Amino acid sequence: MVGAGGAGFPSHVKAAAKAKWVIANGAECEPLLRVDQQLMIVHAAELVEGMELLAESVGAGKAVIGLKKKYQGAIDTLKTEIARRGSRVELALLGGYYPAGDEHVLVYDVTGLQVPEGGIPMDVSVVVNNVGTVINIARANRGIPVTHRVLTVAGEVKRPVTFSVPVGALVEDVIAAAGGPTVAEYEILDGGPIMGGFTTGQVSKKTTGLIVLPSDHKQVLYKKRPIEHDIKRAAWACDQCRTCTDYCPRYLNGHRMEPHIIMRLVGQQRADAIPPEHLAEAYLCCQCGVCGMYACPTTISPDRVIAGLLKTMKEKQVPPTLLRKEFPVHPVRDGRKIPVSRFAARIDVLRYDHDAPLRKEPLEVSRVKIPLQQHVGVPCRPLVKSGDRVAVGEMIGDVPEGALGAPIHASIAGKVEQIFEDSIFIRADPK
Ligand code: SF4
Ligand code: SF4
Repeated sequence: MVGAGGAGFPSHVKAAAKAKWVIANGAECEPLLRVDQQLMIVHAAELVEGMELLAESVGAGKAVIGLKKKYQGAIDTLKTEIARRGSRVELALLGGYYPAGDEHVLVYDVTGLQVPEGGIPMDVSVVVNNVGTVINIARANRGIPVTHRVLTVAGEVKRPVTFSVPVGALVEDVIAAAGGPTVAEYEILDGGPIMGGFTTGQVSKKTTGLIVLPSDHKQVLYKKRPIEHDIKRAAWACDQCRTCTDYCPRYLNGHRMEPHIIMRLVGQQRADAIPPEHLAEAYLCCQCGVCGMYACPTTISPDRVIAGLLKTMKEKQVPPTLLRKEFPVHPVRDGRKIPVSRFAARIDVLRYDHDAPLRKEPLEVSRVKIPLQQHVGVPCRPLVKSGDRVAVGEMIGDVPEGALGAPIHASIAGKVEQIFEDSIFIRADPK
């Protein structure tokens, strides 16, 4: 099992920790995604059971599911389930803002604790898991491995839908199952329209959504812009209004994350001449996109510039130097929370904001290409060879003993047709 929220952290590592709090992240703050809010209704029993198991495993006194006030169906179902079981699991109701699901933001809003700069929730004795992960924990406890992924297909497709898809299903097959694209030229984002990246590959355990957008859509052009272009714009188009900083959720949480200063320095000089204390701010960025996609009046993209800086720093093994543990949250933090609908309108995806109902039956596909690495850590090594027959749920790859990672399992029954360097291709048995 790996985190289902997108990061892909192996779940057994978090479950083995000791913590005072466990939080299930059901905020689902990206526009268009409809996964977690429907999973919390359909799998309420497994979610509450998983929270109890997790709380017991880490020794937590508090077990809280964080979800938005507007998910009334999920709230009612979960309350009924909690009462039926006599469970100590609680609900924390959040506003409809972005990025409510950012771990630092969520931890503060639910517990009042502040994750330190450069830190993780465990630093304040909190374990956070996506609701899908917690449901998978309840299943894993009954010996059921992760073979499918629930995701939303939205944007320029004929029938927006949320369904359970075999891990490794080809993106083109999944889009076809949603009626196919409605435009001739398009790009597909793996994840939400804000933080998702381009894909033409396959579904992994981390895929929360597939969003189809026209090739000339604002978000596609923003994400495809060469980074050199962004750096040049930092020099000639940034007026130092500091709106990017004023709306940055990490800055508002009290961290020294000031994108306007990074943009000033990047615009003025070579990146390797930037003072280390400002370079290190890149480590504090969660890549939420607020600064570039929402705040900046001239649509410069501090988020992309910072991502570029961070990549360089990691390659050069520059350590993070900003590690304050105590700091106040910004006094206007709550007043600067961004309504999701306003963000969706700003990036021009409000027109795709339709229902994407959860289909009861999982998607059936004739082929899957299961990635060997769907997690933080080292890739799996195949446990099967070409020509082998596999059953659904059979382990087909695992990480070396003691290494960070998680095994992978066959998501359809069939024949292993080919072992690639990065994946295992299985063709389904004929019906
Ligand atoms: S992407 Fe921008 S707004 Fe988000 S944390 Fe990074 S600097 Fe702040
Ligand atoms: S919001 Fe845009 S123009 Fe203003 S300081 Fe930030 S990057 Fe510069």
